[in-house]
Amino acid sequence: MKVAFIGLGDIGEPIASHLARDPFDLTVWNRTAWKAEEFARNHKARAAASPAEAVTGADVVITCLPSSAEVEAVVHGERGILNAMRRGAVLVDCTSGDPPTSRSIAAELGGRGVEFIDAPVSGGTSGAKAGTLTVMWGGEETVFERVRPVIEAFGKKIVHAGPVGCGDALKAVNNALLAVHIISTAEGLSLLAKAGVDPKVALDVINASSGRSNTSENLIPQRVLTRAFPRTFRLALLDKDIGIASVLAEDLGVKTPLISLTAERFHEAREKLGDQVDHVEAVKMVEEENRLELK
Ligand code: NDP
Repeated sequence: MKVAFIGLGDIGEPIASHLARDPFDLTVWNRTAWKAEEFARNHKARAAASPAEAVTGADVVITCLPSSAEVEAVVHGERGILNAMRRGAVLVDCTSGDPPTSRSIAAELGGRGVEFIDAPVSGGTSGAKAGTLTVMWGGEETVFERVRPVIEAFGKKIVHAGPVGCGDALKAVNNALLAVHIISTAEGLSLLAKAGVDPKVALDVINASSGRSNTSENLIPQRVLTRAFPRTFRLALLDKDIGIASVLAEDLGVKTPLISLTAERFHEAREKLGDQVDHVEAVKMVEEENRLELK
């Protein structure tokens, strides 16, 4: 099966590594060319000079880019993939994208005999390395069956969310909940620190009680209390995801004031801390506001 992979970022690179082996015949393209060349040197893969070259003759094309805007640019741009993908090929978009743009890309490709599914992932860079990602996909069952072996190479829990765009919607809401947990847990621990409770003691109790979450069980102990803050998922990308959830809520007329407030807080954190920091560093904004460090 000929596979083209576009976007070797923090999570794209480990996903692509699972496709650099039989029965796949992998070609990669990355905007910063040296990353694709290095990938090809270290894996069973070829580096292409343009998106169009990468997808020529491919059965399956995977995109893993920051947002749907970059996917659209790669579809339409100079040496883009729109005219280069063959009829009958499938574009699997692993970007955490937005539903309306995914639907419009699907419609445009469909007019040329190319199928599309949105297939955002969760499980982080560690899940990507282990090949155990959760994949939530939107589209037709018959299309999915054609790309199943590719998705199973890096996904463990693979769930059909609904028609095209539903994978994106599910991912955006999941990440909005992650963002709520990060801000609310940082606020709660700051309050407890001021009240004289050591954050480690607080977490010991919270993690045996109903206030626990992945944030309290893993992110805060491993990344905040240690002050390690490793970069695995950029804050700017989480800011984008909550934005997608907020716009979706507006479009559908659903009241989500807590998600809107968290979107504002993450936007503020992105402006203060910049585009390159990790998402968990949003905790630093809460720490600064309360003049303390959680450690
Ligand atoms: P990164 O920011 O690490 O990588 C982004 C990739 O997109 C890079 O390959 C970058 O190329 C490329 N790119 C950026 N802009 C353009 C452009 N205009 N044209 C072409 N290529 C471009 O992101 P991640 O790998 O972390 O995330 C990718 C997607 O996966 C996002 O939608 C994210 O929300 C989602 N995701 C990420 C997770 C994580 O833990 N990191 C977890 C789950 C989902 P270059 O090398 O040139 O910068």
